[in-house]
Amino acid sequence: MKIAIAGSGAMGSRFGYMLHQAGNQVTLIDLWPEHISTINTKGLSVESAGEQKFVRIPAAFPEDVHDDFDLILLFTKAMQLSDMLKKIAHLLTENTAVLCLSNGIGNLENIQKVAPHIDLLVGTTLWTSELVGPGSVILNGSGYIEFQAIENVSHETVNKINDVLNAAGLNARPSNNVLLSIWKKACLNGVLNTLCTILDCKIMELNKSQYTSVLTKRIVAEFESVAKAKDIPLTAELALKTIDASLAPDQAGDHYPSMHQDIASGRRTEIDYLNGAIARMGKELNIPTPTNTLITELIHAREDIAVKN
Ligand code: NAD
Repeated sequence: MKIAIAGSGAMGSRFGYMLHQAGNQVTLIDLWPEHISTINTKGLSVESAGEQKFVRIPAAFPEDVHDDFDLILLFTKAMQLSDMLKKIAHLLTENTAVLCLSNGIGNLENIQKVAPHIDLLVGTTLWTSELVGPGSVILNGSGYIEFQAIENVSHETVNKINDVLNAAGLNARPSNNVLLSIWKKACLNGVLNTLCTILDCKIMELNKSQYTSVLTKRIVAEFESVAKAKDIPLTAELALKTIDASLAPDQAGDHYPSMHQDIASGRRTEIDYLNGAIARMGKELNIPTPTNTLITELIHAREDIAVKN
């Protein structure tokens, strides 16, 4: 399959690499000049299980790509999706399906606003990846993808995309309720990412304080209320079970979450698409969301202090 990765950072590079290894024709699209030139001159450096290899995959700025693709994997941070879509507008033909696996609530609506007529699929993934410098990723662990066609996409195309993702070892499965998975992950991130960033700790360290468990329950209860009003079947019980499972050191526990790393590297975060989305929707729906509002404000304050430009 001819595949473009629009947003080839940590996750885009992982997926691009795995799809390329499975024999697909992959193009990496990104905005970061140093990243593109490093990949094109040295190859994409992929470190996995202590081994490093350099893989030749073409990388380019959006405006320099003019092919017809069967699939575009949209993989920027949530707040960069609209800009990326505008930059690849010339690649969005009627034969191109677009799959977005970025984290966050509201991505679907944002994509539909900018590109209303595309063959769109959205989903969520439990794969992870770390971008350690331009042209260089470290891949650990395994994961899976859940995805669902939103508009205009035939069963045949969904099955074809599913087969291609699975042939690359990405453990994909079509879902009938991907919005629940997206909200469940946003709730998980809305607790673990934010609390570890504010408290400057690893995920498993949240267990050391009784206050974090009280805060977690407050955050989750507000997610549940807003989800209910939006007909998303996310319950506090389900969310808390997912969060508890992630605290174990052999799961994600022994790591600083990505939002912590964003702040440490002086980058803005996806907070407006996590707790910020709950605060915004709560206001629209007249549902009180004081904890998510405060958490959003605290993370924005950390951004203002940490962000370089
Ligand atoms: P990232 O910041 O490493 O990658 C995003 C890339 O997109 C960057 O290289 C950036 O240069 C590029 N980009 C942004 N806007 C662009 C534009 N307009 N034109 C061209 N390039 C543009 O982010 P990531 O960690 O790969 O995360 C992507 C998404 O996946 C996020 O929603 C994140 O929450 C989610 N996610 C990440 C992980 C992880 O382990 N990193 C795991 C699961 C989900």
